[in-house]
Amino acid sequence: MGKYSLLFLPGDGIGPEVMAEVRRIVDWFSSRTELAFDVSEDLVGGACYRVHGVPLHDDTMAKARAADAVFLGAVGGPEYDGLDFSLKPERGLLRLRKEMDLFSNLRPAQCFDALADFSSLKKNVVSGLDIMIVRELTGGVYFGEPRGIHREGNERVGINTQRYTESEIARVARTAFDLARRRGKKVCSMEKANVMESGILWRDVVTEIHADEYHDVELSHMYADAGAMQLTRWPKQFDVIVTDNLFGDLLSDLAAMLTGSIGMLPSASLGAPMENGAPRAMYEPVHGAAPDIAGEGKANPIACILSFAMALRYSFDAGGEANRLEAAIADVLSEGLRTADLIGETGSKPVSTSDMGNAILAALDRTSTR
Ligand code: NAD
Repeated sequence: MGKYSLLFLPGDGIGPEVMAEVRRIVDWFSSRTELAFDVSEDLVGGACYRVHGVPLHDDTMAKARAADAVFLGAVGGPEYDGLDFSLKPERGLLRLRKEMDLFSNLRPAQCFDALADFSSLKKNVVSGLDIMIVRELTGGVYFGEPRGIHREGNERVGINTQRYTESEIARVARTAFDLARRRGKKVCSMEKANVMESGILWRDVVTEIHADEYHDVELSHMYADAGAMQLTRWPKQFDVIVTDNLFGDLLSDLAAMLTGSIGMLPSASLGAPMENGAPRAMYEPVHGAAPDIAGEGKANPIACILSFAMALRYSFDAGGEANRLEAAIADVLSEGLRTADLIGETGSKPVSTSDMGNAILAALDRTSTR
């Protein structure tokens, strides 16, 4: 097995703190398993703007396209609020997503047993929850033309256009069906075919792809508003949900928060297969740069570490190692270790970012067979 090249872009705020813990986990897998990683690091967001005057340098973009996987910490901070729109830290992240053509955004909602009390829903509703939302990321109403604000008579009109081509729908549907094959073999597609033509096309194309290529996976359809209700009523009925950019934005936030803190939520953005067959990919925690706690050693590194578990599964075909890492995290949580975001009203003493990293490494050591 060759060496995988990883590009680390720690970014701003707590990004470098949580990525430092991922780096230690990657080194552990390099030294203790058959996997080998070659990690390089570069600038993105405000950190890049301070050095190069842009939120992403062209050289970094080229490195991202060449890497087997990109890992991003977080970008942003109040010090960049006054910058021109094109120079804001978030533009670096959007450029990466766009130029790598990362059209499928995977957001798991997985509830660790030790944290089931932390959800705003009843424990029996979320305990053991493990669902995956696949959101289309590069099309739909956020990008469709015409768009803008113009004047009609004596008032202003705001316009955005929901637009999807068959091929855009087909490729994200295939991502969802392929994922379902590795999981519970069920896909629920969500749109608003009752009121939107783009929803009718979405439903037709997903149905065709299913009939032609994925007989072994169970497909159901749901209107996205009903889907939101079902996600809060009984989320365990779902395995993989596939939906468009706008509904996916809302439904993935809703599903993710079923499980507790934002410090626990990983994500993957996947594109077309590269030469080696693995998808072009960027992994990142769902949280932002958290300037309110940056530099204080309080950040929870688990979202970022779980993003590496996703990379093991989806980029490096190492599902067993991903399970091992997730089990190590579950162990540490069941021992009662908590960063500040997971303490709630309990009043117990939180551990630091690096202590959480140490504990996960120790738990991995306990699982090691070599
Ligand atoms: P945020 O996610 O940075 O923080 C929201 C709250 O959650 C804060 O109280 C923060 O302390 C807490 N939090 C976040 N991650 C945590 C972690 N790992 N451990 C413990 N607590 C954590 O969102 P925000 O405050 O809306 O945004 C702050 C900055 O980050 C802004 O500049 C925003 O634009 C940027 N942002 C970046 C991304 C990204 O890089 N993908 C995503 C969202 C926001």
